[in-house]
Amino acid sequence: MSKQPPVLNTTRKFPDNMTSAHALVVKAKRGEKGNAKGKGYAVPAFNVTTFQGINAAMKAFELLGSSGLLAFSNSALKHFGEGDQVFGLDVATSYIKKMAKKSSVKIATHLDHGDYITEPGRKVLQAAVQRLTSVMADNSTDHINKIAMPLKDNIELTREVVDMAHPVGLSVEGELGVLAGEEDEDTKSEFSTYTNTDELDQFLKETGVLMLAPTIGTMHGPNKGKPGQKVKLNIPLAHDLLKIANEINDEIVFVAHGASTLYPQVAEYAVKQLNEMGNGKSADRQKWQDFVGTDWDQIEGLIEAGFCKINTDTENRQTFLAALLGAINENSAKIDIRWYDNQCTDALTKSYIQKLIMAGNYGVWHEPKINVDKFKFDLGISLKDLISQAS
Ligand SMILES: [Zn+2]
Repeated sequence: MSKQPPVLNTTRKFPDNMTSAHALVVKAKRGEKGNAKGKGYAVPAFNVTTFQGINAAMKAFELLGSSGLLAFSNSALKHFGEGDQVFGLDVATSYIKKMAKKSSVKIATHLDHGDYITEPGRKVLQAAVQRLTSVMADNSTDHINKIAMPLKDNIELTREVVDMAHPVGLSVEGELGVLAGEEDEDTKSEFSTYTNTDELDQFLKETGVLMLAPTIGTMHGPNKGKPGQKVKLNIPLAHDLLKIANEINDEIVFVAHGASTLYPQVAEYAVKQLNEMGNGKSADRQKWQDFVGTDWDQIEGLIEAGFCKINTDTENRQTFLAALLGAINENSAKIDIRWYDNQCTDALTKSYIQKLIMAGNYGVWHEPKINVDKFKFDLGISLKDLISQAS
């Protein structure tokens, strides 16, 4: 390991309106939109798992002039590649490239929870460096043996990824501390530890990462706490960490994992559909009522502390599923499957638009095509009508 980690090569120009995730999130940290500079905002990273997800996200970015960040988990890549993650990378990226080429905004593609600990993890990460514009090297936890990795190993492995990615212009996101909860079958942990301030300093200096996911109390998955209880994040710690990071390099940006804020109206809509269809499974209804997300005021607190990449997934999945229940309730014998597809994709688009507006990520690459203050997320109104109401 040479003394100084390589700096991110920002002269690399990706084709087809693509750029590194860091280029987008550092703009958000500085509050840059067009030629203006204002309040900092956040770039939500949308975990896409299907082509509908990509279409919905691209539509939302275009409508709002947002910075677009599409993230892929290992299980999403398996899904795209019929079990083969590297093939999944090829399939998903060639589709996104076609879409991004005609885009009016900048798009980054990011590997979520890549690891450099295991042999399969290394293989996927190396392939991602060839195909994406940003990677996460989550070496804080050995997910197979379910143990926290020693700091020294986390630093060494993450540094290997930085050595490989930074010279070719890909940003690298590291993770320090262990995040509880289950994101998907490949990323789950029952325990959680807060990021230590001394370790943060050492980790940032020795790895050279410009994006870091510290742990400040967020959790993966749809059940971030007990029903009725508010999730409390350690915002003072987040500010302490930001101070340390800014002293090293003010281009370092933090990443909030498990930052989903659920939409109460989506759960209400889903329960209404289940009731109307006379679905006898009261356990399913209860599940919808028991989902717990992180309140938006907590996420806003994080954005002020330099968390300019916020990973959101659960609320988007829920919106898709609620829309599917609504579509089946409205019409369960329509042979035109495109109709169901459109209902779900439009709902996902609404969810993405709403989240981009909440995060302040609009008007970055061009003026929004709607009045963002007038947009009212509603599953009972068509996307077309919601857009025209906000025009
Ligand atoms: Zn995560």
